[in-house]
Amino acid sequence: MDTPFNLTKLLRENIKNLVPYSSARDEFKGEASILIDANENAFGSPLAHNYNRYPDPLQHQLKHKLAHIKGVPAENMFLGNGSDEAIDILFRAFCRPGVDNVILVPPTYGMYEVSANINDVAFRKVNLTKEYQLDLEGIENAVDEHTKLIFICSPNNPTGNTINRHDIETILNNFDGLVVVDEAYINFSQTKSFTQELAEYQNLVVLQTLSKAWGLAALRLGMAFASTEIISVFNKIKPPYNINQATQDIVLEALDQVDQVNGWIKQTVVEREKLVQGLYKLDMVQHITPSDANFILVKMNDPRAVYAYLVSHGIIVRDRSKVELCEGCLRITIGTPEENRILLEKLTTINI
Ligand SMILES: *Cc1c(COP(=O)(O)O)cnc(C)c1O
Repeated sequence: MDTPFNLTKLLRENIKNLVPYSSARDEFKGEASILIDANENAFGSPLAHNYNRYPDPLQHQLKHKLAHIKGVPAENMFLGNGSDEAIDILFRAFCRPGVDNVILVPPTYGMYEVSANINDVAFRKVNLTKEYQLDLEGIENAVDEHTKLIFICSPNNPTGNTINRHDIETILNNFDGLVVVDEAYINFSQTKSFTQELAEYQNLVVLQTLSKAWGLAALRLGMAFASTEIISVFNKIKPPYNINQATQDIVLEALDQVDQVNGWIKQTVVEREKLVQGLYKLDMVQHITPSDANFILVKMNDPRAVYAYLVSHGIIVRDRSKVELCEGCLRITIGTPEENRILLEKLTTINI
C-alpha cells in the first residue's frame, strides 16, 4: 500500500452518516432499582429463569472471558449471531449494491457468495490452484478500484488445507480493501491464528466461531476480530440485541470447559489420521487432501454411488463431487471413534 489505510474511504456513505439505534440500556448504564424505561414485563418470565430484561447489547462479560481465551482485547472483538452475521455486516457496511465487488477464491465456503447475492453485490471468482492455494496473480488481476473485500478461508472449507501464510500476508500488504480471513477451523490446525496480527494490519478481519470445535453450533455465536475502528462499524450496524441472553449465559458457562474442548480437538485429530489411513486401504479411494480441519475431502471412484449407498445405511456425508476442483470428492466430517469405525466398515463391505 503506498497510501496509509483509510477505512472511512471504504465505508458506504449511508453507513458513514448513520445514526445508530439508541436503546434504553445505551442511554442509562448505572445501577437502578426500578427499570421502567424499556417496556419490558416487570413481573418476570414464565420460566424458572427470568429473561424479561433486554440483554447487554455489547456482551461485556462474554467478551471479557473470550478476550482471555483468545488473547485478543475485548475492544477488538465483535460477536455475531453466527459468523454468518459478521459476513453479512461486512457486505452491508462496505459494498454498494450494483457498484462494488468482492473477490472469492473457490472452492470455498458457500456463504460468501450467498451473502453477496443477498446484498446484490458482484463477486469475482479466482479459483484456487490445483494445490488449493491462492492464485496471487489472478487475484491481483481481478481487483479493481471497486473491490472492497477478499474472503480467504483457512483452513479452507471444503478442502481442509491451510492457505500459505505468506500469500495471505502478501495480499494484506498490497490490497487497499479488507482481507477477511475465516478461521472457523483454526482450533484443529497447528498454524498460528491471524488474530495475533491485528496490530500489524489495519485491513485485516479474522472470523472465528463457536460452532465447530467448541460444539455450540445451535447457540449461534460467531466472532470477528479487527481494529477498534472496524469493530465500531460492526457495532453501529448490528441489531441492538443480536446475542440473546440465553446464548450469553450458556456460552459463559461453556467457556469454563477449555480442557474438555481441547481434549475433543486432540481426539478429533487422532481420529482424522486413523480415518485417512483406513480409507487409503480401500480401492475406491484415489486421494485425500491433507487436512488441518475436522473433516476430510476424499476423492474416490463413483462418489455419487458411494453417497447413495451411505445414505441407504443412515450415514450422511457431503457430496462435493460437482464442485469445480473437487470433482469426484465427498467431504466427510470426523465423527466419534464409533461413528468412524462404522463408516469404514460400511465402505469396506460396499458392493457397487
Ligand atoms: C461452519 C463455518 C462457519 C460457521 O458459521 P456460523 O454461522 O458461526 O455457524 C463459518 N465459516 C466457515 C468456513 C464454516 O465452515
